[in-house]
Amino acid sequence: MSFIKHHFMHDIIKENTNDDVDLDYQYEKWIEERKEAAKEAFPFGCNLCTGDVILVDSTIVYGSSYGNIYYCLRCGNYVGVHKETDKPLGLIADEQTRKARIYAHEIFDNLFKSKLMTRHNSYKILQAIMDMSQDEAHISRFDKEQCGELINRLRRLKKVLNSITF
Ligand SMILES: [Zn+2]
Repeated sequence: MSFIKHHFMHDIIKENTNDDVDLDYQYEKWIEERKEAAKEAFPFGCNLCTGDVILVDSTIVYGSSYGNIYYCLRCGNYVGVHKETDKPLGLIADEQTRKARIYAHEIFDNLFKSKLMTRHNSYKILQAIMDMSQDEAHISRFDKEQCGELINRLRRLKKVLNSITF
């Protein structure tokens, strides 16, 4: 049994004490609903493998709930959503890309966490050093190479900033 099915069974059994419930049928119905919910964001399926995508609670990958995720039934990769919406943060990403984004974000966040500049100005810097528009410059949409490029450019920027006396 796929672990998604296992997860679903667990939930359905918890809610339902009726023995007559056809679990396989309930599961198929649930999967179809979840696929339908993902149709708007991923009309052509997974951007990595074209597999079917479902919108589902993040418990299936994290063990506890951090809101919904778009999850590919074929390759098992996923992407989160913007807080309290079902808007995907970006494209479905593999594990290496997800890690690269987290790391790039940590380094980027230092710009404003260090009080070097405001958050707003940090995002202006991001656009400028990546030569991207406001719409393009989202780390959650970057691929691995772009994350690496951002990290390099931020390091160079930091060197410059450290060498300047205002
Ligand atoms: Zn996929």
